[in-house]
This record gives sequence, structure tokens and C-alpha cells, in this order.
Amino acid sequence: MDVSIVVPFYNESESVSIFFKRIIPILRRSKCSFEIVCINDGSKDNTIDKLLLEKKEHPEIKIVDFSRNFGKDAAMTAGMDFSEGKCVIPMDCDLQDPPELITDMIKKWKEGFDVVLAKRSDRSSDSFLKKITANLFYDIYNRISDYPLPKNVGDFRLMDRKVVDVIKEFPERTRFMKGLFSFAGFKTAYLDYVRPIREKGTTKWSYWKLWNYAIDGITSFSTFPLKICTYVGFFVTMLAFARGIWITFRVFFQGIDVPGYASLMVAMLFLGGIQMIFLGVIGEYIGRIYIETKQRPIYIIKNIIK
Ligand code: UDP
Ligand code: MG
Repeated sequence: MDVSIVVPFYNESESVSIFFKRIIPILRRSKCSFEIVCINDGSKDNTIDKLLLEKKEHPEIKIVDFSRNFGKDAAMTAGMDFSEGKCVIPMDCDLQDPPELITDMIKKWKEGFDVVLAKRSDRSSDSFLKKITANLFYDIYNRISDYPLPKNVGDFRLMDRKVVDVIKEFPERTRFMKGLFSFAGFKTAYLDYVRPIREKGTTKWSYWKLWNYAIDGITSFSTFPLKICTYVGFFVTMLAFARGIWITFRVFFQGIDVPGYASLMVAMLFLGGIQMIFLGVIGEYIGRIYIETKQRPIYIIKNIIK
């Protein structure tokens, strides 16, 4: 087996048939032997029936059916676990990752690159808010993480078997795939492409989901938010110390004055607020330690159809 395509499906019944109609001729033309590992990530519509129908026509399709929705990263992890190809290409089923690019990816791979990244040359198909928030996330993430994420690169990429085997060995439960990919390294090539809009259906990522995803990503690959607590705590302590000395001197030279209720209240509330925020930050990390220590499976499979 040369090429494994890994595709997660979550409520994508509208996209299934147009996806295969477009990708299969391209894979046939590439003259590589291939398989398409489809993960049904607990779809609530009839995605699984559509996939089974496609499988009857195309024996190259493998189906991994999850017991419920585990999220795209868990689905990609399963896809990589079940893939057998000498290289693996994860991609979305909504045709936002143009299958035509696969031919060029394979060419680069044969030239000797271990990773071939598809890089969006612009974000014109994204909404204004998505553009701003995505940019902000990458800027912050890359400033505080030791393993920078290339900008405008999604999960669409080609990985050699040795890269896939390395990533499969990562034991963590929180699968922030972009981060894991970047952590792995290897010899990388880039291909530019323009990301089209979704062919059918709607995006599965609400802003709330994206926000939580961003927090997962940052806490998985950086302890900087914890350091901020220390630094701000240190700074506030210094201020309090200086103010303490100032008050002591004033008592010596001017005697004791009682008023000060307002300033006392402000200082108390401010410090109380800061402490709660920092407890929250620490809590985010402890929560993740808790989840990791339980070692629950990343995904649960209901059925495998080979
Ligand atoms: N997806 C999934 N599980 C989820 C959410 C999404 O398997 O919980 C799949 C989805 O079916 C699609 C891919 O991940 O194949 C990308 O999703 P989407 O197109 O909604 O994301 P966007 O392109 O808007 O970032
Ligand atoms: Mg999409």
C-alpha cells in the first residue's frame, strides 16, 4: 500500500458522494496503490449508510465507526492508527482540501520529503471574524510555545510512514494534532493553495468550540500562562511592599490617620480578582493533568468495516 487517505466524517451525509466522486479518479491516475480510511465520528445523520454504499462500489474504502462523537483530532488519530500506507494524508471531506493537490504532494514525497504541508496562500474564504481570531491565536501561540505552528497550515498534509509511527507513539489523550505534527519535526516541503469554500453542509466548528480548542492547544504545548501568574504575583507584591514602607514612614512623621476605606476596598477587590483568575489558570492545567492520568481511550470503536 502506497497512500492512505484519512478522512473524518461528522454529519456529512451531503458531502460523502461528491467527495468520493472527485478524489477517486485522482488517486487512480496517480498510479499508486491506495486506501481511504473513513472515520464516522458519531454522526447523527445517515453518513454511515452513505459510506457503506460507497464502499460497495470502491473496495479501497475502509470504515471505522465510532461509538459517539469524539472530535476531529480523535478521528484523525484513529485514522492514522488504522492506516497501512507508506504515506498518510489526512484531509477534510468537504472538499476544502482540494484533492488535486495530492498529486503534487506525492511528487514531493518521492523527491525525498517526509512531510509535505499544504499552505493556504490567503484566507479569502474565511469570514472577517475568523481571520482575525485565527491570526491572533497563531501570534499568541507562536510567541509562548516552544514548537511554532506554521501559519495558514491546517491538517491537510502528507506524512511519511516514519512520521506517522512517531506521532502514534505520543501517549497524550488531548490530541492537539497541529501541535503534535509540529513537535515531530522532519524534513518538510510546502505547497501553496487557495482554500475554496465548503461544497456542501456547514462548518462543525462554532466559535465556542474553537475557543476551547485554542485553550487545549496552548495548555498542551506551553506553561507560559502559569508563569504569568508568578510574574504578576511578584510585581504586585513589590508594589505592596513599596506602599508598606511609604505608610510606615508617614506614621512616623505625620501620625496615624484613619480614613482609607476606599483604597483598602479597591486593593482587596483587585487582588481577590487576580487570585481567582490565577486559580482558574492553574485549574485549567490541573484539570488536564486529571484527564491525562485517567488514561481513558482516545476513541471507542463500534464497528470496523474493512
Ligand atoms: N469533523 C469531525 N468531528 C467533529 C468535527 C468535525 O470528524 O467533531 C470533521 C468534519 O466532518 C470535516 C472536518 O472534520 O470532515 C473539518 O470540519 P469542518 O469542515 O466543519 O471544519 P472547518 O473547515 O470549518 O474548519
Ligand atoms: Mg471545512
